[in-house]
Amino acid sequence: MIRAVHADGLLDPATGETTREALVVIDDGRVTHAGRRANAQVPRDAETIDASGLTILPGLIDCHVHLTALGEGLDFARELTTPPTLELMRAVRAARRTLDAGFTAVRDAAGSPAGVLDEIRAAVEEASVHGLKVMAHAQANAGIKNALKGGVATIEHGIWLDGDAIEMMLDGGHALIPTLVAPQWVIRHADAGKMPAYAADKARDVIKDHTASIHMAVEAGVKIAFGTDTGVGPHGSNGEEFLLMQQLGMKPIDCIRSATTVAAQTIGMKGVGTLAPGSWGDLIGVPGDPLADLTLLSKPDNVHLVMKGGDVVKSQS
Ligand SMILES: [Zn+2]
Repeated sequence: MIRAVHADGLLDPATGETTREALVVIDDGRVTHAGRRANAQVPRDAETIDASGLTILPGLIDCHVHLTALGEGLDFARELTTPPTLELMRAVRAARRTLDAGFTAVRDAAGSPAGVLDEIRAAVEEASVHGLKVMAHAQANAGIKNALKGGVATIEHGIWLDGDAIEMMLDGGHALIPTLVAPQWVIRHADAGKMPAYAADKARDVIKDHTASIHMAVEAGVKIAFGTDTGVGPHGSNGEEFLLMQQLGMKPIDCIRSATTVAAQTIGMKGVGTLAPGSWGDLIGVPGDPLADLTLLSKPDNVHLVMKGGDVVKSQS
């Protein structure tokens, strides 16, 4: 099956360039052409996908999600009594919502659905015991440095990075996955009575440090990969992270790279995060220029077209 996607624009995250009057040809799930329409021959048997009014870019990648977690606040009784079959159904539904939001690939951080919570809890409880916040920071950094020495490729959350940890990440080319939106969801759930109030207090405590820490890493030029810890927050809300990244001083193109080229490299997947010939036909279309307006990527409703492996999985006008 050959499909020819006709779009107003085609954004290449690698170069940051947008090609007008664009055409993407996908043959048997793989891209064979992505560029100007005028330069390409459309195979006669190709099915036309009308993406007029849209800017096309590679499908987005979230490097840190929890598909089996509901993202509706913590309900341990419910978590404990959930049979595995139901958990699978949940994951399927979560994957669908994630896809609708334009994320065509994710890395599931298996295990605890509350990674960011664990980090907040461990560090802040330690701090309150000793009455010394600096102690928590030192411990968090010791953990990060040990992890980096131990050969991890990525640092998740990074709430309390210091200059040495940032230096180590720069030297080793490690990616940082900030998950800025996760503590925001802890606060929202707690305010809605779906998480204990102490969780919100702790999250409020750390948001300032987290923001400062990620800002320092961004300024220093650490590689930032897109990740949300969705499963703490609801599936499909991933794109809000873009706005928080931008607020921290990241340029729109760097935010988009974090979820395409950088993310692909970070999760070690080939043929994603790009529409170069030979890559998977995973793409999205948004009504406007995401470089001028990142909110186009922040909400599922703004993502009008999603193709996965050359198949249209979402199309709305
Ligand atoms: Zn997590």
